[in-house]
Amino acid sequence: MTTAYTQTLNSLIEEFTKLPGVGPKSAQRLAFYILKADTKEAMRLAEAIKDVKTKIKRCKTCYNLAENDECNICTDPRRDKSMICVVEQPKDVISLEQTGACKWVYHVLGGHIAPLEGLEPGDLTIDKLVSEVIMATNPNMAGDGTALYISSHLKATGVKITRLARGLPSGTTIEYASGKILSDAITGRVPLE
Ligand SMILES: [Zn+2]
Repeated sequence: MTTAYTQTLNSLIEEFTKLPGVGPKSAQRLAFYILKADTKEAMRLAEAIKDVKTKIKRCKTCYNLAENDECNICTDPRRDKSMICVVEQPKDVISLEQTGACKWVYHVLGGHIAPLEGLEPGDLTIDKLVSEVIMATNPNMAGDGTALYISSHLKATGVKITRLARGLPSGTTIEYASGKILSDAITGRVPLE
């Protein structure tokens, strides 16, 4: 970092450099943009950053992102609560929801998941009202392992367990799958054996 910048400007550039996909040049451009921006506008950005760190928590029911005790999906009366879709992270909820093909509720596993890394299937509480659990973990080794691990623990409950159809190319992630492929995978879901 050059000494031509003030300490404060340096700090801002440094923080921007930590963001994904932002190199030193872009970081510098962003910092100067903020410097020149209307004070109110810059403060709104600062507030928005503060808010995502202080207002967002995990839904107590499904562990999705929420601003209240429960997320918008869990509190939506039109949702079919007898269907639970298991995903790895909140970003997957967003990708699936963008297809418009889901009327179920979710269970977000969160964090790093590998079958042997302390995932507790007991966290996934299945009551008698649940008719179907849909495994929407990523179609890669970790995701497949997780789906099998959870389903083996749910077998005793007798609940129907399905997975998204294999239209999803192996090794890809739900986050990066196209909407069309995702909705096909949702409607074409198959029993998980
Ligand atoms: Zn929820």
